[in-house]
Amino acid sequence: MHAEIVAIGSELTSGQKLDTNSQWLSLQLADLGIAVRYHTTVADDLAANVEVLRAAVTRADVVLITGGLGPTLDDLTRDALAELAGVPLVCDEASLAFVETFFQHRGREMPERNRVQAMFPEGSEPLPNPVGTAPGIWMTLPSPGSERTCLIAALPGVPSEMYRMFREQVRPRLPGGKLLIRRARINCFGLGESGVEELLGELTARGRDPEIGITAHEATITMRIVAHGVSEEECRQKIAEARTEIGRKLGHYVFGEEDDELETALIRMLTAEGQTLATAESGTGGLMAQWLTAVEGFEKAYLGGVVVPTDAAREGILQIDETDGAVSATTAAAMAVACRERFGSDYALAVTQYPAINPEHVMGNAPFAYLALADQQGAEAQQISLGGNPAILRSRTAKAALNLLRLRLLQSCGEAQAPTRR
Ligand code: AMP
Ligand code: MG
Repeated sequence: MHAEIVAIGSELTSGQKLDTNSQWLSLQLADLGIAVRYHTTVADDLAANVEVLRAAVTRADVVLITGGLGPTLDDLTRDALAELAGVPLVCDEASLAFVETFFQHRGREMPERNRVQAMFPEGSEPLPNPVGTAPGIWMTLPSPGSERTCLIAALPGVPSEMYRMFREQVRPRLPGGKLLIRRARINCFGLGESGVEELLGELTARGRDPEIGITAHEATITMRIVAHGVSEEECRQKIAEARTEIGRKLGHYVFGEEDDELETALIRMLTAEGQTLATAESGTGGLMAQWLTAVEGFEKAYLGGVVVPTDAAREGILQIDETDGAVSATTAAAMAVACRERFGSDYALAVTQYPAINPEHVMGNAPFAYLALADQQGAEAQQISLGGNPAILRSRTAKAALNLLRLRLLQSCGEAQAPTRR
């Protein structure tokens, strides 16, 4: 089953307005398992509209049209559909009464032009529009040159009207549209997209239900679970199974769900253990501090941090000696130890300065920074390679530091499970 989306409007083809409706509709169809093969955008021109619609019904099983349903002379969708079907436009009395009432309620008389909004290609069905004057059109047409029937829905161009009408009127009429769809997100850190895919194996196969997609945002990888079912219970069950399976395969890489970020997970764990953290940051511009202080209830677990972007700041504020240079394991460890003492916290995380990233380095010998974690036993430093996308360097480095403590806390409560390889 394939679909085509036709966006009608000269404001779109002239570049004055961006066609966001097609994007939205494609996402909705994807949920129903209907693949979209074409997005067609066409100006307010009758011949062009008919041509585009003819091509669409020839090559697609579902055609969703947006725009061109208004009362003005440039709104030609209904005429184009009538011409394509070879039928006249006929008045639908119920729709006419609705449009008239719409104006009455606003204390205005219906302009004569709006009468056209009650005209429908003969044999089609009006789709009521509870939020505007333009009803939509539902039609089925035989697909030229084949046995297939093409399902056609024309919706208004105004996005808010279109969203509601699609959900209420069109979706239930599409194959699979009566199924419930429920989603969940699981977040992990420490692996690339391909690494996650490899560990998940068959779970990410296309066409599986629940479907599991992988997206990456600033080094955080999110698994998006989409489950279909006839009841809430069926969806809930499918999501729960997927969640367990992902947890089994990705182990400690998983840090949270839905809107959880690493800092949310970390504050939660520290609070549960009754322990505290402080941070010292060079090179990340205080990103860890910014994130941690944005978590609700952070005050119990995060005592504060210092942003020390220069040698002078590190030496002056943390009173450390950088004999091995700013970017060294000893500096990172010294920063963490000094920060922990300054704030009187159980743990301290430190990030060292890193060199300005030369794009050539990214491919060859990638530059690096050091992360360190201090506790009452001392500090441990770790080198982090700064290859990859320079645009997300700060967040990747800050996340790697937060993750260091997250893994330590998992280990100390015996929950750091290694993921199982396929
Ligand atoms: P129409 O239904 O063609 O009268 O469109 C009404 C209004 O909806 C237009 O003026 C646009 O602002 C908006 N609109 C129409 N089509 C789209 C689209 N494909 N994407 C986003 N906005 C649209
Ligand atoms: Mg228009």
